[in-house]
Amino acid sequence: MSVRVRIAPSPTGFAHLGTASTALYNVLFSRQNQGTFVLRIDDTDMERNRPEYEALIYDSLRWLDLGWDEGPDHGGPFAPYRQSERLDIYKEEAARLLKDEKAYRCYCTPEELEAERREAQMQKRPYKYSRRCLTTPPPGRTVFAVRFKVPGGEVTFTDMVRGHMKFDADLIGDFIIVKSDGYPTYQFASPVDDARMKMTHVIRGEEHLSNTPYQLMLIDALGYERPTAYAHMPLILAADGAKLSKRKHPESNLMLFKEQGYLPEALINYLALLGWNPGTEQEIFTFDELVRTFSFDRVQHAGARFDWEKLNWINGEYIRKLDDDELASRLQPFVPNLDPAIIKRAVPPLKTRMHKLAQAVDYLDYLWTDPPPPALDSATAERVRAAINVLKDVAWEPEPIEAALEKAVSESGVGKGKFYTPLRDVLTGKKVSLPIHYAFALLPKEKALSRLEQAA
Ligand code: GLU
Repeated sequence: MSVRVRIAPSPTGFAHLGTASTALYNVLFSRQNQGTFVLRIDDTDMERNRPEYEALIYDSLRWLDLGWDEGPDHGGPFAPYRQSERLDIYKEEAARLLKDEKAYRCYCTPEELEAERREAQMQKRPYKYSRRCLTTPPPGRTVFAVRFKVPGGEVTFTDMVRGHMKFDADLIGDFIIVKSDGYPTYQFASPVDDARMKMTHVIRGEEHLSNTPYQLMLIDALGYERPTAYAHMPLILAADGAKLSKRKHPESNLMLFKEQGYLPEALINYLALLGWNPGTEQEIFTFDELVRTFSFDRVQHAGARFDWEKLNWINGEYIRKLDDDELASRLQPFVPNLDPAIIKRAVPPLKTRMHKLAQAVDYLDYLWTDPPPPALDSATAERVRAAINVLKDVAWEPEPIEAALEKAVSESGVGKGKFYTPLRDVLTGKKVSLPIHYAFALLPKEKALSRLEQAA
């Protein structure tokens, strides 16, 4: 049996961190088994789908180098891969269930259903649809939804993270598989596609664990083969421990990481460790190492809390491992107005100081924006003039600049800190900068000296 796995994101908002994490685990498992990784777009929510959100899913998966073998953009043996293009299939499957009396039309209005629900609440019993439309459908109505006739009994399956799972289907009421507007529900379209696309393993977020018995009953009722196993991965929680919310937590937006200059390979490394424990001290993994070592039995059951500090540490490690030319070219989009030669000169001091590429802007924006000249007292102005004197005739490279400044410091009678702080302020307008000799060397000599002269 060759392994087939899928992710099925819905294009209803920005690309989500959870999508990346689920995609990663699917790709790792697929690579471990020389399997096929399918990208299916779950776009049956006609009101909330947007093509631009679908484009964001592609962009972010490509950015992370989590490529797919079959999908809407390049097809495959089970095309189409967009649910909105598979409506005929769901209709046909629903008709088959109706014909076999495994589903029935439900004419109940939302108000009638609400009344049923309220009654159950008052009697303090868990709500289950009454099956009124199965036994005594109201006559003369034309608007209907299709409900699955839940066979009841026990639904069991293997979860690669949680082991043997058992659900009591007697607690599950007949649920809607086709809405009154003719569109299938997620609960229906998803297992139909999983079965027809011959998925062997379904790896997805824990929020779908309770959906699995519903979906397995449908696969059985349709007479398809079940996937061999499921894996429900821990929820990603925000740093504050709450469920990741699109509105409240910027870390839920995948593109934010790109914009901030997290390296895709570092984010992948971090995501792998978020919820999975390799069982060793190792924290930095190449992708091939992840493929070799990842296993579902070391995935935690509890929610996985997002940890910026750890991500920053990992990203810093990856930044320091890049060679200088590579880092320079990755920095270019963050400082598009800088000459590539200047970026290359800035790389050595930046490399040890950054945990994300966007920080380069804070370090380098003094190169294209003149800071306001600060007001200096006369003793400080005197020291700035001394700096001008030693720098005037020096070769404009970090080392000679450093040597010249050190000479000026020793002649000034004050310490390095006291001497350099105002210089840094005059030159960059900041309290924190690259080491002062680099800060000078990156700026054209005339410009650097003219900033000092103006302030002095
Ligand atoms: N569209 C669903 C989601 O984005 C897919 C869930 C599944 O993998 O079945 O959560």
